Order: sequence, then structure tokens, then C-alpha cells
Amino acid sequence: MPRGTPYTHLAMDAEIIATGTELLLGETLDTNSSYLATQLPFVGLQVKQVTLVDDNIENLAEVLERARNRSTFTFTIGGLGPTKDDITREAIARVLGESIFTDEGLLEELMAIFHRRDASMPPHNLKQAGLIPSAVGIPNRQGTAPGWWAERDGHIIVALPGPPRELHEMWEREIMPRIQKMGIGQVVLTRTLKTIGLSEALVDEMASPFLGGENPYTGIYAKPDGIHLRMIARAASQEEALDLVRPIEEKLREIFTTSIWGVDSESPQRVVGEMLTKRGMTLATMESCTGGLLASTITDVSGSSAYFKGGIVSYTNDLKEASGVDAALIQRHGAVSQQVAEAMAEAVRIRLKADFGIGITGVAGPDGLEDVQPGTVYIGVAGDGRRQSDLHRFPQNNRSLIKHRSVVSALLALRQLLESAA
Ligand code: AMP
Ligand code: MG
Repeated sequence: MPRGTPYTHLAMDAEIIATGTELLLGETLDTNSSYLATQLPFVGLQVKQVTLVDDNIENLAEVLERARNRSTFTFTIGGLGPTKDDITREAIARVLGESIFTDEGLLEELMAIFHRRDASMPPHNLKQAGLIPSAVGIPNRQGTAPGWWAERDGHIIVALPGPPRELHEMWEREIMPRIQKMGIGQVVLTRTLKTIGLSEALVDEMASPFLGGENPYTGIYAKPDGIHLRMIARAASQEEALDLVRPIEEKLREIFTTSIWGVDSESPQRVVGEMLTKRGMTLATMESCTGGLLASTITDVSGSSAYFKGGIVSYTNDLKEASGVDAALIQRHGAVSQQVAEAMAEAVRIRLKADFGIGITGVAGPDGLEDVQPGTVYIGVAGDGRRQSDLHRFPQNNRSLIKHRSVVSALLALRQLLESAA
């Protein structure tokens, strides 16, 4: 490879075509394309285009033809079912100028699936045993529709099923290993460091010597769980890509130290759970405007029973008072206040005999409460002889978003307290 060649030119091009009229109507969210788009770089494929197309054979054939002419790989998603509007096989056959025949091997597997279900095969399903000379069938362990791997004139069309479970399984078990074996030039590795407590501008300033760059490329992304620093490296192998990322990561860790709360797909609830487990400490929650979502999120982590004592959903002032929050405090400062958030954290900590407590009180909107703006949320944490609280102002008019962000913020506030208590 000549020096200075942009790495991006080495990866092979890929396109994704998601089929389904329901996708174009906005009724089904196209989550499959984004899943696949995150996966392809790991096997050295660079996604150049994602197309949504309805269940119309002319339209699909046209999009397939264009993809075939400009990319090395085309991945189709959906349209492999037994019904009339499932036309992906027919469209591929048409574009390649081949005829579909019934493959004996696929037919046998298909019959076996129905046999295991104690059902006879509906005649409509016969087309799922169809194949063309350029294609091989790809087993589907989650459903009846086999995928296709069709290779002709240096172009590869991979037809994947639409149901996400089937798609994920087929990708992981069948398609990804196949492409990996082909040893295509490059892999792309991303590494995300998640920070909290710093503004985007400050993160930008602190990381500035490392931002941008060719390989790895480092960028900043503002997310609900803080500011992310993301490195993207391209290399011939995972190991080489890791070698490119590691020195930058070390530098960034030196700069940001404990502001980094997690990496890659780590969640606040998991990180907090691990910290509590390591310290052998426990947690209790009292939440108002999040209606139990905090407790629910904490218990999404398996093994949370080791540190989570439980929670109180004190939606009314009466229940806040009955749970140990001083009525005079609510009277004086209002239910949605810093003082009450801290008092909730402390009260539930004591009542449930936990080491740490979290209190959330706020207005999820869209209407305000008394003179409090919707989207105003106070989060209190208590433990280790301390209590502290933060005021958050979330974008208004979306209750579920406000609840979700409150929960993330609450977990990260506890993480800060745990970090400084260490
Ligand atoms: P299909 O094989 O196109 O009939 O798809 C079967 C089912 O899979 C659809 O009814 C959707 O629920 C789901 N599905 C299909 N395509 C997608 C997609 N791109 N993203 C998410 N779900 C999808
Ligand atoms: Mg469909």
C-alpha cells in the first residue's frame, strides 16, 4: 500500500437495501439497516448507501441493479416470507437473469421445520425452498425462510430475512464468519469513552490535541449519558486496529481520569451495579416523576438483587411524607426542589437500611406544576455521610424522554458519589 493512501479506499463497498412497504409508511422502524450498518465495518465492508424500497418487484430490481454496478456487496433485508408481497428472491433472479428452481435440500429442511412443529407445510411456503444457480441457501435457525448468498461476476448479493431475531442470528452465525474468511482488506474498530459532568465545549478543549486525525479518527458526540469520545481505527486486523487506538485511549484516560464512567456499550446501571458489588454496598431509591423507571432500570442488570434493596414510588406528597420526608420541608421549598430530592434520597436510605439512596423529584410535563417548568428535575443522592443534588432542565413536552434522561442522570450522579467515596 503506498504511503498516504487514505485507508477508506481499501475497504470494500457495501450497500443495504431494506424492503417493505411498511417501512416506507413509517409504521415499522428500519432497525435492521442500522444493525447491519454497525456490523459491516467489523468485517472490512464500508457501507456506501442504504435504501428503503417498497414491496414492488420493479422498484427492488432497479435498486438492486444499481447497487450491483457500483458496490461489491449488496445486502437485502426482508421479503423472504411466504406471502405474495415477499418478492426479494424473484427480484434477485430477475436482475441476474436466472430462473428459480425448487432446491431439494432446502425443501427437505423446510419440511423438517414444519414436521417439528407438528404441522403440514402450507403450499405458499414452497417458494422458500427456491434457489437460483448462482446462489446457495443460508440456514435460518429462527424461522422458515433461508437466506441467499448469490455470487456472480464479482458481485455478491446476500438476502437476509426481515424479522430482527432471524437477521441477527443469520448474520452472526452464518454471514459474518463467511465474510471474515474472505479476509477482506480492513477492519474498522471503534472505541468509545463515555464522560459525565463536563460540558461539550470543555471536553472539546481538553481533548483538542487528539481530535480529528486520520487513523485513528477521534471525535466528540453529545449523548443523553454525557459526552462521548469516539476513536475509529482502520487496519488489516483487530489487533493492529487495537494497537492504533490504545495509545490515544491511554492519553485520553490520563486527561479525563474519573470523568470517564464507561466504555463502548456499557450502561450506567451496569457500571453502578459493579461499583456497589465491588464495595459490598447497597442502594435504595425514592422516585416521583420517573414512576418506578429508576428501580426498573436498576433491576435490568442480572445480579442486581445483591445490591438493590428496593424503591418507593412516592408520586404524592402524602407518600413522600409517609416515607420519611419532612412535611415542613415540602411546605417550605415545594415538592420539586433540591431540598426534597436530597431528603428523599436520605429518607429511603434510612428506611430501607441501604448504604446509598437516590431521590428523584420533578415535572415530566407537558404541563407545568404550580410555578415549576415542565422538564425540571432534581436528583438527590445520599450516602457515605454526604448528600448532594443537581438540577436538570430537560427538553420539555416528552414525558418518556424526560423520565429516561432523569434515570440516566440519577445513576451517573450516584456513580460520581461512589467514585469520590472510593
Ligand atoms: P418481511 O420478511 O419483509 O416480510 O419482514 C417480516 C417482518 O420483519 C416485518 O413485518 C417486520 O416486522 C420485520 N422487519 C422487516 N424489515 C425490517 C427492518 N428493516 N427493520 C426492522 N424490522 C423489519
Ligand atoms: Mg415484507
